[in-house]
Amino acid sequence: MLDVNKFNKIIAANWKLNASFDFIKGYFDQLNIDELKNNENCFIICPPSPYLNSCSKLMNPPVLLGAQNCSKYNDGAYTGEVSALMLAENQCKVCIIGHSERRQIFNETNEDIKLKAENLLKNDINPIICVGETLEEKEGGSKFDIIQNQITNSMPKNASKHNIIVAYEPIWAIGTGLTPSLEDISEIHSFIKKSIKGFDSYKVLYGGSVKSVNSEQIMKLKDVDGLLVGGASLNPHEFIKIMTS
Ligand code: PEP
Repeated sequence: MLDVNKFNKIIAANWKLNASFDFIKGYFDQLNIDELKNNENCFIICPPSPYLNSCSKLMNPPVLLGAQNCSKYNDGAYTGEVSALMLAENQCKVCIIGHSERRQIFNETNEDIKLKAENLLKNDINPIICVGETLEEKEGGSKFDIIQNQITNSMPKNASKHNIIVAYEPIWAIGTGLTPSLEDISEIHSFIKKSIKGFDSYKVLYGGSVKSVNSEQIMKLKDVDGLLVGGASLNPHEFIKIMTS
């Protein structure tokens, strides 16, 4: 399994429910991976599961293959599910879990996310565990409690700064074009590292309407260890700008 803590910055692309063979061919024709060589950063692309294998053939380090979700079950009568072992056998090194779209649309709980993370670790895949507050929670003043609760309750046993990545993604900033102020991003990242016991040296990514126009400023913030990028990662020119920012 990768030691995620050895990287300087980690930048991950979440393609969500977007791709086709034509899209993938065009994307990797335009993404010049050589521009990223000799870099101490780590780059991850997470296509939809059916395309993992075809993307893996077009990718090489420092760009790694990631998935967007995995089952909390390992095998059995669970129609439509994809297990951590299946991801590993398709060259997957990293997997996003607990994305707010999974938590909100598919009702995933912290307990589900913890089980998924345990399955991933057993299969040598590093989980990216997403957390984030809604607009109501932010406005109601409970964002720190929400984040602390999500982080502490979705961590698998054996979690460490070497095997887990945390992504802070305020839900109201995802896909909306809105981003928290730089001060607000710093404040929450610093809260995760300084106030949640045991998380001081975990890698914590920021996600939510990151684009090439704001990526550099966000990534420069002291406690931000990288980015999780949705919409902007679908454009290879835009994503390369973000990866090299
Ligand atoms: C995401 O879905 O993880 C995300 C951050 O999306 P966007 O960059 O489009 O806000």
